[in-house]
Amino acid sequence: MNPQPPDVVVIGAGFAGLSAATALVEGGARVLVLEARGGLGGRATAFDDPVTGERVDNGQHVFFGCYHETFRFLRRLGTDGDVVLQPSLAVDVIDRAGERTTLRCPSLPSPLHLLGGVLRWRALGLGDRLAALRLGPALQALRRRAAEPDVPPHRSEPTPEETVRAWLARQGQTPRLIELLWDPLAVAALNESIDVAAAQPFGAVLAGLFGPDPRDSALALPRRPLDELYAEPARAWLAARGSEVVTGRVARVARDAEGLFVAAGPLVVRPRAIVCAVPWHALPDVLADAGGEVAFTRASAARVVPRAIVTANVWLEGGPREGGDGAGSFVGLPGRTFQWMFDKRRIFGDAASHLSLVASAADDVAARDNGGIRELALAELRGALPETKGAAVRRIVIVRERRATFSVAPGAPPRPSTATAIPGLYLAGDWIATGLPATIEGSVVSGHRAAAAVLTHLACHPSSSTTKKSR
Ligand SMILES: Cc1cc2nc3c(=O)[nH]c(=O)nc-3n(C[C@H](O)[C@H](O)[C@H](O)COP(=O)(O)OP(=O)(O)OC[C@H]3O[C@@H](n4cnc5c(N)ncnc54)[C@H](O)[C@@H]3O)c2cc1C
Repeated sequence: MNPQPPDVVVIGAGFAGLSAATALVEGGARVLVLEARGGLGGRATAFDDPVTGERVDNGQHVFFGCYHETFRFLRRLGTDGDVVLQPSLAVDVIDRAGERTTLRCPSLPSPLHLLGGVLRWRALGLGDRLAALRLGPALQALRRRAAEPDVPPHRSEPTPEETVRAWLARQGQTPRLIELLWDPLAVAALNESIDVAAAQPFGAVLAGLFGPDPRDSALALPRRPLDELYAEPARAWLAARGSEVVTGRVARVARDAEGLFVAAGPLVVRPRAIVCAVPWHALPDVLADAGGEVAFTRASAARVVPRAIVTANVWLEGGPREGGDGAGSFVGLPGRTFQWMFDKRRIFGDAASHLSLVASAADDVAARDNGGIRELALAELRGALPETKGAAVRRIVIVRERRATFSVAPGAPPRPSTATAIPGLYLAGDWIATGLPATIEGSVVSGHRAAAAVLTHLACHPSSSTTKKSR
């Protein structure tokens, strides 16, 4: 460890913690990042498959053009080129009857590009296409709200109690349009059934996707394993600037007569500010001794309901390569349990030879045993892509992320702000009140906000810090 005391300790090395740490260093602070696990990246990471030797993501992560803060973070690290953004939104879809079509948005101003794409989409009938046009005023209202949060709500905007399905029904969206377009989009963004999830965070997602730039709704896929995309580059970036990431340290925040400090095993650090960038379920323990001022935040965090994502990674013997005329490397499978299939062979090139089938809103799937998940994944794969039927299965690796995201159902506990009631203690993480659901962009927005708040705090409270190690 660096013997010099850091200005700031960041707890947690996921997207939130690492974006905060790098922004802090950019702003002139010295930072120590403490991570509980042996590896970096939190919920967006990768692991070695011992049999094939391939790096496997803990779950496919999809970025969008509207992830502006995320791309800013990646540009800082110099890895933004490893996330390949479509020229405009294009998605291949195989419906439940097995018909394959492509939603491709033409180059028109937003949101006309979406409406243009939907109007030309063969999967839809005339009634569905006309219904899509009815959403135009709501999209305009959501965009206005994003730009001017204080304007009075338009009647087309979601109410706090409304679920996504109820809001879509109120907008006159047809069952087929919901099944093929809105349900896959909402479940991917919110990781919750549209019968349960609140419509307001979905509105925030739509406002981002259909903002002023038509490319905001284009999809982007990382072409490297997730930890190699940002976590390890962030570690190296910080080290090159005299800051540090230390793994295997379960940290907690405590307070004594001298003030706040961070304890992690034998290490005790008294920085000038702390950013706690852990997920909601870790927060009550990390802040248990921080003081009564954060009792409400701890209690809210303890009430958060987690949601699961399950991924079945499938190695086929000489199986066909995904390659429709749309996105080419992935296909939407609406109406199934595994809603998306990603061909990692096309995404990672020679470094991978597997397909990743993703089930979001998957609490029920996560409760099944591996045999049951394997059977379901293969049945859905072979049903949607009959050309895979003849290919022998070489290997399947199931990844259950039981606490992938937090529920955004109406009545969910309040999300805390960046600043706490304790001076010098700040929060980051996808669960912080950004208005976005649990996404990479939400994490990085929270990380950058925490960094900005800490830099202001440091400027207002110049003082020295001390680090000591005790056994
Ligand atoms: C399978 C899966 C698929 C997903 N797909 C998408 C997607 O397609 N698009 C998208 O935008 N988002 C997606 N997400 C969501 C996204 O991964 C998360 O929102 C984001 O990674 C959260 O980052 P974070 O930094 O806020 O939290 P985390 O990644 O959870 O990081 C917090 C870190 O804190 C550490 N920590 C906890 N307690 C302590 C402690 N006491 N001391 C030190 N360290 C501690 C943890 O080990 C962890 O590394 C997906 C998530 C999963 C799991």
